[in-house]
Amino acid sequence: MITSNFSIKGQIVFTLLFVAACIPANAQKSKKKSKAPNYQEVINEAHAKYKDVKEGANADYIEELAKVNPNIFGIVIVTPKGEVFTVGDFSEYVSIQSVSKVFTMAKVIEELGPEALLEKIGADATGLPFNSVEAVEHMKGKEINPLVNPGAIMSTSLIAGTDSAEKWNNVQATLNSFAARKLEINKPVYISEANDNVHNQALAVLLQSYGRMYWDPREITDVYTKQCSMNVSAKDLAIMAGTLANGGINPVSKEVVVSPSTVSHVLAVMSTAGLYDDSGIWFYNTGLPAKSGVGGGFIAVVPGKFGIAVVSPPLDKAGNSVKAQLVIEHVVNALGLNPYLIKPVGAKK
Ligand code: GLN
Repeated sequence: MITSNFSIKGQIVFTLLFVAACIPANAQKSKKKSKAPNYQEVINEAHAKYKDVKEGANADYIEELAKVNPNIFGIVIVTPKGEVFTVGDFSEYVSIQSVSKVFTMAKVIEELGPEALLEKIGADATGLPFNSVEAVEHMKGKEINPLVNPGAIMSTSLIAGTDSAEKWNNVQATLNSFAARKLEINKPVYISEANDNVHNQALAVLLQSYGRMYWDPREITDVYTKQCSMNVSAKDLAIMAGTLANGGINPVSKEVVVSPSTVSHVLAVMSTAGLYDDSGIWFYNTGLPAKSGVGGGFIAVVPGKFGIAVVSPPLDKAGNSVKAQLVIEHVVNALGLNPYLIKPVGAKK
């Protein structure tokens, strides 16, 4: 009796399990396959929507930057699979400027480890402009971050090399690996900034006075200035951002550029300090790691999904490209990409 009772129960359980297993499969079949997001359409839309925006102005504290065509406007998305979506002036060059800071930081973390970066530079937002002396003075050169000038010059000073030339080669090789091509220096921009960068030299010397500069301050400021003067297009920047979106493997060259752990730390600092003293507002609006440069280049990373870059030289007061911010906010909203926009479950009926 007991045995047959069990077998009946067993059969019922088996049937129920079988039915349960079948339901989702059937439901799945009847459900329409969700459409892949149309990146091309969304960037076309953003380009059309913002191309006539006239707000902002080119940086002019570096003379050559004031001469750059303010109408250059390119948008590019690069996915981990290496798909490239472009619109507008995606192959026009601007100098990389502060966007380069992201990649030297990555190299330092890769070479020395995440602890060394925290100990020797820091990972705290300053809440101050990118070239602020107060940011250094306030904490005696500590608790700064590699995405503002003083922290970036520290970062470049930590790049491996037995002399400044070797450090420069290492910086170039790093930028090239992220971009999947050999980048060239924009000589007029370099000369223009090198002739007028006493302020950055002062930051480096001040850091040295606190024992927080790891190479000759003037020599390394020069390497940093060259690093900022590399020419990049929106496509280059999107490949660089795409490498971060893909956990450190370049989606185009397939080279392993840095480790996923390095990328996680880099994206965290981009999230808190990528737009200088406007980093909070940016993160509040998008929830995405990003980095701007005074040349008008701008990158943002949607981890695992894509890197996006916009080039448009006119900047707002904090030094961030006006159009780039509008475009990426548009893309984030259109595709629902803010990671903090959560689809809730379990609401009571
Ligand atoms: N080379 C520039 C400087 O040091 C970079 C600044 C920037 O892009 N915010 O002033």
